Order: sequence, then structure tokens, then C-alpha cells
Amino acid sequence: MNPKSAEKVQDLQYFGEFGGVNPSISDSSTFTFLSAKTMFDTFEGNTEGCYLYSRHSSPSNLYLGEALAALEGTESANVFASGMGAISAVIMQLCDSGDHIVSSRTIYGGTYAFMKNFLRKFQIQTSFVDITRLEKVENSITPKTKMIYCEAVSNPLLEVADIKALAILAKKYSIPLVVDNTFSPLGISPANLGADIVIHSLTKFINGTSDCVAGAVCASTEFCLSLKDVNNGAGMLFGSTLDSLRAASILKNIRTLHIRIKKHSENTMYLATHFENDGLKVVYPGLQSHPGHESFKHQMNQEYGFGGLMTIDVGSLDKANALMEMMQKENLGYLAVSLGFYKTLFSAPGTSTSSEIPEEEQRQMGLSDGLIRFSIGLDNDIHATYKAMKKCMVTLGILSNQTEMV
Ligand SMILES: *Cc1c(COP(=O)(O)O)cnc(C)c1O
Repeated sequence: MNPKSAEKVQDLQYFGEFGGVNPSISDSSTFTFLSAKTMFDTFEGNTEGCYLYSRHSSPSNLYLGEALAALEGTESANVFASGMGAISAVIMQLCDSGDHIVSSRTIYGGTYAFMKNFLRKFQIQTSFVDITRLEKVENSITPKTKMIYCEAVSNPLLEVADIKALAILAKKYSIPLVVDNTFSPLGISPANLGADIVIHSLTKFINGTSDCVAGAVCASTEFCLSLKDVNNGAGMLFGSTLDSLRAASILKNIRTLHIRIKKHSENTMYLATHFENDGLKVVYPGLQSHPGHESFKHQMNQEYGFGGLMTIDVGSLDKANALMEMMQKENLGYLAVSLGFYKTLFSAPGTSTSSEIPEEEQRQMGLSDGLIRFSIGLDNDIHATYKAMKKCMVTLGILSNQTEMV
């Protein structure tokens, strides 16, 4: 199955005001109206193509939204000032006080903290379940449940959700399936598999230059408009609006996403295969040893591979820290959170991006102290990277020097 998302993004043509090959950037917070009546109608949501105020929408944000809708194959998309801005808006739009969410237990730390802690203010409860066990998901659904929430490929353990099966389940109970696809843009197309709402942190692969935070919600036109509603829209009223300058720069970067994703996947597959052969505990959905390998294969758009994230468990936090510091010194990547950069980024999720999750729960979900998450970069010579990383591991006793140096 290939939804041709990259082609759709590339087919979009937006010309600038003077025939420029890129659209003009909207540099205004507010817009004039020729008649007072049109202004009134726009407030009432009855005019197409009129801009009111840039928190509501702006030309630059609409261009980026259209590209994201093309990418995910949804009717429409709204952009946000961050991934969390998108996630919190979707959740608050779908839930009333006292409602309930069924969520995967292995999700981004910020999303987990939002559901587990913040939503308590509104008596909204979340059941965190192993999303790969469909019967557990179904058993957790109550009459108050307003959504099933998961990540297509989860952070940081790279669990793979069976989106088709979850979508069927969600339909059975007439609730939306919300999928955060931040880890697998192009590789997996959740909406094509039946997801109702697809969320992205654009901060990661989609922008790919680690220079800003941004987010998106790809969904039906009806839901996207409801988020923007001046009276009731969580997007409009929480106000996490993306700036037009950033929207314009992200749109330019999205056009090379397909090339970058292929290279990220190719390099990660190379390292994952070789380090597993060396005897390390590698987690990568592209490996046969990964419990979600078959599920990923069934859902993927093949040409984009298995993505740019992998984890290696080096046994202890001390070893993980020493290795990350050494790799940084050798210029093999940066000790930094986030992902999707041209340079490899690594961090120990237990003490960083997933530190919101209590230690006991981290253990239950298999998040160990020695786990390093790698977002593999666009290295031109991945074999040289492999050799240099291996050298660090041998120096630190993570790999024995009996391991053959190829
Ligand atoms: C980073 C991330 C987020 C949050 O996005 P921000 O842009 O940092 O707000 C949400 N989900 C996943 C899977 C992420 O990796």
C-alpha cells in the first residue's frame, strides 16, 4: 500500500505575491475588511477565504496545514506552536470534565504527564494500557471513554501499534482513534489505516532542522474547524498558534522529508543490524527480533523503511552516560533530547524525556536505566560511524575487543 504522500506534498503549488517560487509569508496579526458585514460573517464562521486574526488562521499556517493534510491523507490539518499544543488541544476538545481516555502506556513523557497529572483538574481519568494487547484496550473502554490514544511507533520503546485493529475497535465503540505519528512520518500513514485524528510534533522529523518547536493535527475538516471555533475551539482559545515565519520555514523543509526519511531509515537499519550482530541489546522495528516487526511490515509504506529511531541497552546508567559523552567527544552525535536532526542525537530516556514516568512504572514497561535512545542522523558514511561508535564501546568495555573489527 502506498498513498503517495510525498508526491502529493510536492504537487502543491503556492506562488509568492510577485511570482516567487515560495509563497509570500504573511506578516500580519490582523486583516482588514472592505465591509463591516463581511467582518461580522467571518466571526460567525460563515466566510471562506477571509482572514480575521492570525491566532485563528493565517495564509502561511494554512499552506503548511494543506501540506500536512496531503502528507497524512486527511481532509484538513491545523498547525500549532508545539506538539504539546496540538495534543492538549485535541484532548481538551474531545473530553468534558469527568470523561475517560484509554491510552497506550508507552507514550511521550509530556503527553503522559498531561493525561496523568494535569487532566486531574478536570476529573478526566486515563487508563494506561499495553496497546499491543487488544483485549486489554477493549476491556478498559467505559461509557465515559472519549478516545483511544496511542503513538504509531512509541517513544521511547518503539512499540508498534496495530492501527487497523485499533481503528476497528474504536469504531465499534463510536470513539475516535487518535494517533501521534511523530516517530514515523511517511513510513506509516495512520489515517489510511483508519485513524481519525493524526498528531505530529513537527519539531522532529518533519521540520528536521532542530531550530523550532511546532505541532499539527491532521483530521476531518469538521474536527479541524471545531478546533478553530471562536467560541469553543481549544486551538483558538488556548492560543498555541504557530508563527507565520516558522510555518513558512517548516513548509520548505517538508519538501525534502521523503529523502531524509529514507536516509535516516537506511542508516539506522545499518547500525541496528551490525550492533545486534555484535551481541548488543538493540531495539529497532526493522529487526526480526523486534516484537512489532511483522506489525510494522504490514502497515508500512515500504520505500521509507523502518524509521530513524533505535535504542541500545548498555547495561547501566553509568555506562550509558560514559558512552554518550565519549560519542559526543568523538563528534558522532550530540547528547541531546529530540529527534530527526541531520546529526545523530542520543539521550537516556529514563533520566530525560521519560523522567515524568515514575521509576516503578518505567521498570514495568521495560524502560531500563542503561537504555540509550538514538535518533540516527544523515551520515554520508554510516560504516565509518559504525566503526567509530564500536571503538567507543570497546574502550568502555560495553563490547569486548574480541568482537571483530570490520
Ligand atoms: C516531542 C514529542 C512530542 C511533543 O512535541 P513538542 O513539539 O516538543 O511539543 C509529542 N509526541 C512525541 C512522540 C514526541 O516525540
